[in-house]
Amino acid sequence: MIFGKKTSVLKVDNPAVVCVNCKKSNTITLRILGDYGHLFQIPFISKGKRGASECNHCKQVLSHQEMNNDLKLAYFELKENAKIPIWFFAGLITIKILVIYKIIFINN
Ligand SMILES: [Zn+2]
Repeated sequence: MIFGKKTSVLKVDNPAVVCVNCKKSNTITLRILGDYGHLFQIPFISKGKRGASECNHCKQVLSHQEMNNDLKLAYFELKENAKIPIWFFAGLITIKILVIYKIIFINN
């Protein structure tokens, strides 16, 4: 496959919230994932961040639309702090460097 999309885990946290399903506390794991587009397996462009929570006790998985306010708050805070890594743009950066190199050293 020439083009494709891959996902990488950006940030993981265990917020101090109660699971709405099994009512246990401190069992929730929040994960922020970053999607990136790749070209010949080289990461090229970020496709944004998303995430979900999972209860380690009852295994309930919630998307951010399904979370209650406490969990949603923790989710958005974690998402805000999850930075898109520079290597998501490795291909794009390489091309930019090549173009700049060409402009400076070859075109004149
Ligand atoms: Zn649970």
